[in-house]
Amino acid sequence: MKLSIVIPVYNEEENLAELYRRLSAVLTALPYLSEIIFVNDASSDTTSSILKKFAANDKRIKALTLSRNFGHQIALTAGLDIAEGDMIISMDGDLQDQPEVVPMLIEKFNQGFDIVYARRRTRRDTLFKKCAAFVFYRMLNGLSEIPIPADVGDFRLMSRQVKQELMRFKEQSPFLRGLVSWMGFHQATIEFDRDKRFAGTPKYSMKKLITLAVDGVMSFTAKPLWAIFVAGLTLFLIGFIGGVGLVVQSVIYESSLVTIELILSAIFFLGGILLFALGIIGIYIARISSQSQGRPRYIIREKINL
Ligand code: UDP
Ligand code: MG
Repeated sequence: MKLSIVIPVYNEEENLAELYRRLSAVLTALPYLSEIIFVNDASSDTTSSILKKFAANDKRIKALTLSRNFGHQIALTAGLDIAEGDMIISMDGDLQDQPEVVPMLIEKFNQGFDIVYARRRTRRDTLFKKCAAFVFYRMLNGLSEIPIPADVGDFRLMSRQVKQELMRFKEQSPFLRGLVSWMGFHQATIEFDRDKRFAGTPKYSMKKLITLAVDGVMSFTAKPLWAIFVAGLTLFLIGFIGGVGLVVQSVIYESSLVTIELILSAIFFLGGILLFALGIIGIYIARISSQSQGRPRYIIREKINL
């Protein structure tokens, strides 16, 4: 049996030594062959040379360097594509996902589960991030047609079969935690207390986080489009009833009750709603467009020990 660990890293030079030390200790204690695949998402710090040093001394270490920064989900996809283990575990490179949880994931796999999630029982992030994550996962679950486990990130184990099926998905903006949940199989969850980042600053910028959230919603539901439809219908009915009311009133009182303020606010209100609706439709169209271009999802610049 072989175990693969896949870790996307982007400017994580301060974390790599500690991560390698703790992960090696865990892997050495396990009775499996193992490989650690680092995917260097075009870091601009010394991540690349640190990985080379690791790889020179330890044949279990493999590294991919992408040709530019493709983002966490794509970097993870690139690593999964080349993982060869019977069990494949993905985790972050900042020690928020503790290496010591790995044996707990494997224990569930040995009980017969194909997918094992590590759910964050507690997390040590900023208050804003905690609140945003709490709201996002509940909203996503409310909207999505399939259940997507709450408070589960990309720290999980997959069997080789699941991984091979996942490789058939060709989404340009994959929301991996949703796709894996969508796949079915036998899924289990273990709980752990997520640590705070060991060193360095978060590599998920606000823009990347929002994009991830939008990808999550857009790839699992068309409900925003239905919401636009219902909002349009409701406004039409209000407008119609209001219009009839105004005509009747002006006949009874023989004067117009329509003020310029009323008209102006109606224009702003409707214009806002229309642009908002167009924006939502536009995002769906942008996703179709990028999917239909069929570009490769990532480009590898360098392979080490592969
Ligand atoms: N990451 C990446 N590419 C990016 C951004 C992040 O490979 O463009 C990696 C990062 O190095 C880390 C993981 O994705 O290993 C999670 O990122 P981070 O810890 O910043 O996210 P957070 O835990 O704050 O959600
Ligand atoms: Mg992190």
